[in-house]
Amino acid sequence: MTLTGEMQIGQQCVAGTGEAIQAVNPANNQRLEPIYLGGNKDHVHQACTLAWQAFDDYRTRPFEQRAVFLETIALEIEALGDVLIERAMLESGLPRARLEGERGRTCGQLRLFAKTVRDGNWLDVRIDHALPERVPLPRADLRQQHIALGPVAVFGASNFPLAFSVAGGDTASALAAGCPVVVKAHSAHPGTSELVGKAIQNAVKICALPEGVFSLLFGTGKTVGASLVEHPAIKAVGFTGSRQGGMALVKLAQQRKEPIPVYAEMSSINPVYLLPNVLNTDPVKMAQAFVASLAMGAGQFCTNPGLVIALESDALTQFKETAKQSLAKTPSQTMLTAGICTAFEKNIALVTAQSNAELLATGATQSENQNQCVGHLFAVNADEFLSNDVLQTEMFGVASIVVSCDSLEQVKQVTENLEGQLTATLHMQPQDRAFAQELLPILERKVGRILVNGWPTGVEVCDAMVHGGPYPSTSDTRTTSVGTEAISRFLRPVCYQNFPEDLLPTAMQSDNPLGVLRMIDGKKA
Ligand code: NAP
Repeated sequence: MTLTGEMQIGQQCVAGTGEAIQAVNPANNQRLEPIYLGGNKDHVHQACTLAWQAFDDYRTRPFEQRAVFLETIALEIEALGDVLIERAMLESGLPRARLEGERGRTCGQLRLFAKTVRDGNWLDVRIDHALPERVPLPRADLRQQHIALGPVAVFGASNFPLAFSVAGGDTASALAAGCPVVVKAHSAHPGTSELVGKAIQNAVKICALPEGVFSLLFGTGKTVGASLVEHPAIKAVGFTGSRQGGMALVKLAQQRKEPIPVYAEMSSINPVYLLPNVLNTDPVKMAQAFVASLAMGAGQFCTNPGLVIALESDALTQFKETAKQSLAKTPSQTMLTAGICTAFEKNIALVTAQSNAELLATGATQSENQNQCVGHLFAVNADEFLSNDVLQTEMFGVASIVVSCDSLEQVKQVTENLEGQLTATLHMQPQDRAFAQELLPILERKVGRILVNGWPTGVEVCDAMVHGGPYPSTSDTRTTSVGTEAISRFLRPVCYQNFPEDLLPTAMQSDNPLGVLRMIDGKKA
């Protein structure tokens, strides 16, 4: 498929008039054709108006149609074949195997949401039958289900050009909920975005859905992105990226005449705790596994282990020594964009400049490519960490800090002092159980996912996953952006009081035609 550089507004392909956006191969800084001209306010208005016009039609279609639509998007993405992978490699610097895996994850995610749509349990139907004889007052018949919020603006992430971008988790969960989607493509991978957008546009046509169900816009965040969030037809926003970008969108959304929710996944350093027995048993193996997790994907994961916390001991000294040696042998890797590489280097310089942070080791530079991420490992003691919030900066790359504590109480103090996180990991043996139990109540307040004896990178897409957490890991601590529960971000409850049976939406009718799980008079049925 030839790339056109055009936006997709409903079924139309439209050339922009705004600022020129051009992908750059981060490995050699060469510009990639074509040039994408950004949209203007009229383009935003057209896409949002079409989305609003499509909303009632789309959300009230039989669930089977919605599910088939999601499955058709997956098929259309797969039909793009190698063209998609090759373009994504050029635009992101990510290796083929990673992107092929990510395509599998993206299509698997769409299919999982198709299954979710079909089972209908997300409707969360509750029925409280009328109690006409109740004294002192009778009760009316009350029934509740969830409905779609309205058109959703999605900001694709740079670090997952497929799984968190145009057809990624935000788009899949919004479409599953019955919400049309308008995507603001990430300016780092416009070609990948155009290809995936085309796959969705085709799926809309094949499934005979209203055209406004999906649009794709190009342009900068400050122009097209801001106009999109401000448009009255948009009822929610999904975002993955920097804290600064996410909070700018939250502010815009709150300043609207009608404020709307922004689900922004932003910044996390994902503490890893090495509890005493596990650390004493095999500090060398633990250090090697840690560096492997840290360096994966040039560290450009929101769940990268950016902090290690342990008790001061000979074993911790051995852990640091092995981690130093492992990192020193870890080759540099190409980062996603020049901007991300610059931000990484700036953050490394910031932490290096803190007089209390010791630079333990740096990685190897073996590549002549541009925008290289050279790993950095720092060490501080707990008192220093507690007295300097700069050390909690997300470095987004291969960088981590080892914090040594002198007691369990100090480990708890460090944990209390942490900002909200996506994950926390406990490496432990059965003898560490009491230590873990002391930490758990704090961790439950601080993070979205607590792991035992694993590494936080690698986020399974399933029913039980939580990829969220308190600020600044996200802007809304009550939700997840990965897994089927992500659908709840784009739904809201509606109660139907004293409705005649033939006017009730199907899921709440007495004979349960959709066969969904329901709560009837306080009992699951
Ligand atoms: P970003 O700068 O936050 O950009 C993400 C998206 O938001 C882009 O489409 C961008 O538009 C838009 N945007 C940014 N600021 C905006 C604003 N003020 N108003 C409206 N829209 C705005 O993230 P990035 O470019 O992907 O990476 C930059 C840094 O973000 C990284 O170095 C890293 O620290 C962090 N990051 C974190 C995660 C994570 O999962 N935690 C993931 C990716 C990145 P443009 O087209 O104008 O850029």
